[in-house]
Amino acid sequence: MTKADCRAIFGVGVGSMAVFMAGMVVASERVACARPSFSVEADTPVISGMVCDLVDRAVPFLEACHLEVRMPVHIVVSDDLGGVPDGCLGYFECDRSEIRIRTVEGMARAVSDASMFSTIDKAPYFESVVVHEMAHALFEQSACERTKCAENHEYVAHAMQMAWLPVADRERLVATFPVEYPIDPLRLNAFMVALAPDRYAATVWQHFSLPENGCAVVGRLLAGEQSLQLMPE
Ligand SMILES: [Zn+2]
Repeated sequence: MTKADCRAIFGVGVGSMAVFMAGMVVASERVACARPSFSVEADTPVISGMVCDLVDRAVPFLEACHLEVRMPVHIVVSDDLGGVPDGCLGYFECDRSEIRIRTVEGMARAVSDASMFSTIDKAPYFESVVVHEMAHALFEQSACERTKCAENHEYVAHAMQMAWLPVADRERLVATFPVEYPIDPLRLNAFMVALAPDRYAATVWQHFSLPENGCAVVGRLLAGEQSLQLMPE
């Protein structure tokens, strides 16, 4: 989404996540969440507790859509993301299995005023971005072993983010960017993620909401039975 794909594992439009690794700093408190395999670092125990609570609610939600937890995931909450563009809200770094995410306040400041996501209350918006990154983390643990899959990644992450948003916010976004059916899967491409992120999110949701899709499409993408890649290796 906004400048967006700095949040993604393979940063569409902003290059590989590897370029962002330089200058990373370590936040202060590290706690193991009650939910196995998840840990959080944040400036205060209140923040880490809040994120662990979110993890506890989000994992069953993601697991219900075939996104299983197979390896540990570490989440760092900090407004110092280590040299990423100002509009970057967070990202998942696959080699470290680490999510780096801005604080609630930092995210509210960073989101583009031009994005419809800036009109969503900051707490649910923060949650939805964390869920987006968790979906990247879990999708990476089970998919994409032999092929490029940035577009598959973004589809799953955006679908889970949209599903997590309050219904009214999601409906408002979708009403702004209605699609014509049938939806051409070629529209769900990396260029749209980068150039029209709000429209991309709305289109993903409308595609995901079709009876034949939903979590079944996530399962097919995980299994390699379907791909949204324009240029698979
Ligand atoms: Zn993403």
